[in-house]
Amino acid sequence: MCPHAPRSLSVERVAEARLPTEVGEFRIAGYRSLESPEEFVVLYKGEMRPEVPTLVRIHSQCLTGDVFGSMKCDCGRQLRRAMEMIEREGRGAIVYQQQEGRGIGIINKIRAYALQDQGADTVEANERLGLGVDLREYKQCAEVLFDLGLCQVKVMSNNPLKLQALEEAGLQIAERVQLAVETPKCAEQYLRTKKEKLGHLLEFNL
Ligand SMILES: [Zn+2]
Repeated sequence: MCPHAPRSLSVERVAEARLPTEVGEFRIAGYRSLESPEEFVVLYKGEMRPEVPTLVRIHSQCLTGDVFGSMKCDCGRQLRRAMEMIEREGRGAIVYQQQEGRGIGIINKIRAYALQDQGADTVEANERLGLGVDLREYKQCAEVLFDLGLCQVKVMSNNPLKLQALEEAGLQIAERVQLAVETPKCAEQYLRTKKEKLGHLLEFNL
């Protein structure tokens, strides 16, 4: 067990199965929060051992990017790349957090897109709708990883807040792994805003 993991977890594993994908063979497990109606899904592969630094990603649901292949962001590409890296390494886990649009929900996200159509950036659009810029919480995502048996993690993320939150939740960050994906042309403004206003560690010059 992980030295800084909470003694009791606020999530429970309720279902688990094999999931063959285009990328490779994974296992999929469903978790339920004991504190709220929230559910989590984790896609993982290989043996989960606390002493082995393991590739992980906390992927926040993006219906438009993950499912429809939206060109407004790079979420779908990041998810695919994370699956490919885990497949290549033979070990790793992706927690799929069902908090659409940084926690604002799909309807508000479409409203924000409408404001963006009129020239607002992603942060201004949320502010104009009276919504927080980032409503996500990561404590229970970390708990899903503890439950799988992980402790030392190599986090596939460009978001420093996410890294900090996972560390505060008790995980040991062995490494931050850059997820390099090709940037769709129309996502450039969005990514520039993420870099400049939300502090994302994006290593490119737009
Ligand atoms: Zn997205």
